[in-house]
Amino acid sequence: MNTTIFISDLHLSEQTTLLNQLFQRCLHQWQGKIDALYILGDFFDVWVGDDDDSEFIRTIKSQLKQFTSITPIFFMHGNRDFLLGRQFASETGIHIIEAPLLTNLYGKSYLLVHGDELCTDDLAYQQFRAQSRNPLWQMAVLTKPITERRMLAGQIRQMSETRKNNEGKNEISDATENGVQALIASQDLKDLPTLIHGHTHRPAVHEHYYEENLFKRYVIQDWADNYGGYLAVDIAGVHTHELKL
Ligand code: MN
Repeated sequence: MNTTIFISDLHLSEQTTLLNQLFQRCLHQWQGKIDALYILGDFFDVWVGDDDDSEFIRTIKSQLKQFTSITPIFFMHGNRDFLLGRQFASETGIHIIEAPLLTNLYGKSYLLVHGDELCTDDLAYQQFRAQSRNPLWQMAVLTKPITERRMLAGQIRQMSETRKNNEGKNEISDATENGVQALIASQDLKDLPTLIHGHTHRPAVHEHYYEENLFKRYVIQDWADNYGGYLAVDIAGVHTHELKL
């Protein structure tokens, strides 16, 4: 044991048949072999409410429940699955964690976010983010019929797809130095953490300075087609891994 695994941006749906298989294979491999699995957002391509019980969702739920009977899963919301709630958590045994989360693993400090909060140049998105993370807005949305919520989800998805496809304007959806600095500054830190996030679909290791001290920022590999990736954290630090079906 003594390893913790981080994944994000799987964007699972009933259409992602190969990725669903890849995820299932990972669960089999990781269960009982790691200390914990962290899912840092956009696990689902879309989430319209915990009352959605398609066959795909029922299958995933039973896989997660089986996994968490032995190995814990910590789940952070992304910009696609921010409506995932307590009912889903209690049905699957996952623990929902709030961002940003500062945690200590094997003697080192890590700061975890989904990553959308770091894309501070995208003002329109940050406006939507503030609205969509408001509990009152979420409650209002969740009282709407599920068909209406699906339509709304489609629009939100369209909005983020348009952002991704706007070649040339692509930088707008990447993490900014200002965003990273603001996040670090917002924390009451004893020592400078390693930052881990997903969202940008630009897997990499970056180096930053905060008050002249170096720290690293790991961007988790997104999953697409039949491949994915994860970060494994152990006493030696962070290791990047690729996955292929
Ligand atoms: Mn995202």
